[in-house]
Amino acid sequence: MRLAPHLHRIGNDIVAAYLVVTDDGVTVIDAGLPGHWKDLVRELADLGLSPADVKGVVLTHGDSDHIGFAERLRREYGVPVYVHEADAHRARTGEKPKVATGPMKLRPTLGFFAYAVRKRAIPTTYVAEVVEVRDGDVLELPGSPAVVAMPGHSPGSIAVHVPVADAVFVGDALTTRHVLTGRTGLQPAPFTDDPAEASASLERLTGLRVGWVLPGHGAPWRGSVAAVAAEVRRAGA
Ligand SMILES: [Zn+2]
Repeated sequence: MRLAPHLHRIGNDIVAAYLVVTDDGVTVIDAGLPGHWKDLVRELADLGLSPADVKGVVLTHGDSDHIGFAERLRREYGVPVYVHEADAHRARTGEKPKVATGPMKLRPTLGFFAYAVRKRAIPTTYVAEVVEVRDGDVLELPGSPAVVAMPGHSPGSIAVHVPVADAVFVGDALTTRHVLTGRTGLQPAPFTDDPAEASASLERLTGLRVGWVLPGHGAPWRGSVAAVAAEVRRAGA
């Protein structure tokens, strides 16, 4: 689905991934669940493109619902997969600390897991090889994505700032639809390793001049980024 010039989204409000499309090719931000492969291929085909036009995948973090088809792109098309160095191990193995899940409602929770099963999330295909990135890196990929460290949800969570798409991709640094309660609107994401650190990291978004804030779960958010950190904190209080 086309959100704006250069900016496309696949998946839905349960799990989403994004494409930055330029004349130089495509940068994929997050790789959803393995079953989103078909959605990726269809979205590219609508643009007259194929997976061979993808120049890189940038993961906002290493959790299994964000790395879905990354290994397939890497293995079959030689596409490099970028992840923050602190989440590289998680992307390669799935190992992560156990955290309390917080509030849950039965229907949204079942909906999330049913969708994950339908999109073949189990067993997870981990990423055999990754390119490690750090805060401040600007990647040589379509759209020149810039890495903004956002530790908290996981140690290596990042936001990805892409000026040409007028967007910042935030992964699970925040959400606009809580996968376990179904509540919508800007708010902290569940399954967060360190909620206090995640809250502090939100300040790093404040200075960005973009019109789109794009989470891994929930509807795309449109508006001034300056208000986002305070709004997420208010919702989480
Ligand atoms: Zn997630």
